[in-house]
Amino acid sequence: MEPTIVSGKEVSNKIKEEIAIAVEKLKSKGVKTPHLAAVLVGEDGASRTYVNAKVKACEKVGFNSTLVKLESDISEADLLAEIEKLNNNSDIDGFIVQLPLPNHIDEQKVTEAIAPEKDVDGFHPVSLGKMLLHLPSFLPATPYGITEMLRHYNIPTEGKHCVVIGRSHIVGSPMSVLMARNSYPGNCTVTLTHSRTQNLAEITKAADILIVAIGKPEFVTADMVKEGATVIDVGIHRIEDASRKSGFKLLGDVKFDEVASKCAFISPVPGGVGPMTIASLLKNTLLAVELKN
Ligand code: NAP
Repeated sequence: MEPTIVSGKEVSNKIKEEIAIAVEKLKSKGVKTPHLAAVLVGEDGASRTYVNAKVKACEKVGFNSTLVKLESDISEADLLAEIEKLNNNSDIDGFIVQLPLPNHIDEQKVTEAIAPEKDVDGFHPVSLGKMLLHLPSFLPATPYGITEMLRHYNIPTEGKHCVVIGRSHIVGSPMSVLMARNSYPGNCTVTLTHSRTQNLAEITKAADILIVAIGKPEFVTADMVKEGATVIDVGIHRIEDASRKSGFKLLGDVKFDEVASKCAFISPVPGGVGPMTIASLLKNTLLAVELKN
C-alpha cells in the first residue's frame, strides 16, 4: 500500500500563511501586533533548537517575539519572578517556558505560575480543565497540532478506534481527551495505553488511528500496526550520526520504513508533528490577542 504522508511541514506552512493574513487584519484595525515570549533555562541543545524555531516562526507570521535566556543554575524563586514579570507585561500576549527544566526546579509550580490568559502552551490546569469541558481555551500545542493535521487530510475519525501510546500531561493524556470529544476530529473510541499496559501489540493492532508518544526510538514496528491504519508519530530523538554535518539524525517513536507500507496515512519524523506543535503555539497566541480584544 502506498501511504499518504501526513506532512506537518506543509500543513504548518499553510497555517502560518493564514496567521500572517490575520495579523495584517489585526494591524489594519489598529489592534497591537501579537507578541510571544519564550523562556529558555540552560543550554540544552534540543531545547535551544525548539525555542529558536519558535522565535523564527514568529518572525515569519509577523508576530513580535522575545527570547528570555536564563542560566541553568537560576533558582526556582528567581524563575518564578521572571514569570511574574511576563504575566504583568501588557505587551506580551502569551509565553512559554521551554521544558524540560533543570532538576532543582519544580515544573508543575512553574506551569501553574503562568497566567492562564497567557498560557499559549496550554499546560496550565485552567487550560486543561477548559479543554475537558469543551470551552474555548488554549489547547496543548502538540495534541492540538495533531488534530489540525487530521482535519487537513480529512482523515475519518468518527466511530474509529484510536489508540494512544503514552499518557504524559502534555501529549498522551490530552490527546486521548481530544480524540474522544463530540466533534471532528474526534468521536473516536479511545484506548489510552502506558507502561503498565498488558499485551500492547494486541491493542495497537486493533487501532484505526495510532498516536505514538512513548519517547522510545522506533518502538512501534510493522507487526504492531493494522493494515490501512493512520499512524501519527510524536516522538523525536536525536541519534548520533557522524555521516551527517549536524552530527545527528532524527528518529521518531515509529519504525517508519517498515510501518509506512501498511498505513493509509502516516506522519514522518522530521516534518510531521514537530512543525505542527509550533503552528499551534502561534494559533494559541493569536487566540490570546483575539480573546483580549
Ligand atoms: P513522557 O512524558 O516520557 O511519556 C512517555 C509515556 O510513554 C508515559 O506515559 C509512559 O508510561 C509511556 N510508556 C513508556 N514505556 C512504555 C511501554 N513500554 N509501553 C507503553 N507505554 C510506555 O513523554 P512525552 O513528553 O509525552 O513525549 C513523548 C515523545 O514525544 C518524546 O520522544 C518527546 O521528545 C516527543 N515530543 C515531541 C513533540 C513534538 O512537538 N513533536 C512534543 C512533545 C513531545 P507511564 O506513564 O506509565 O510512565
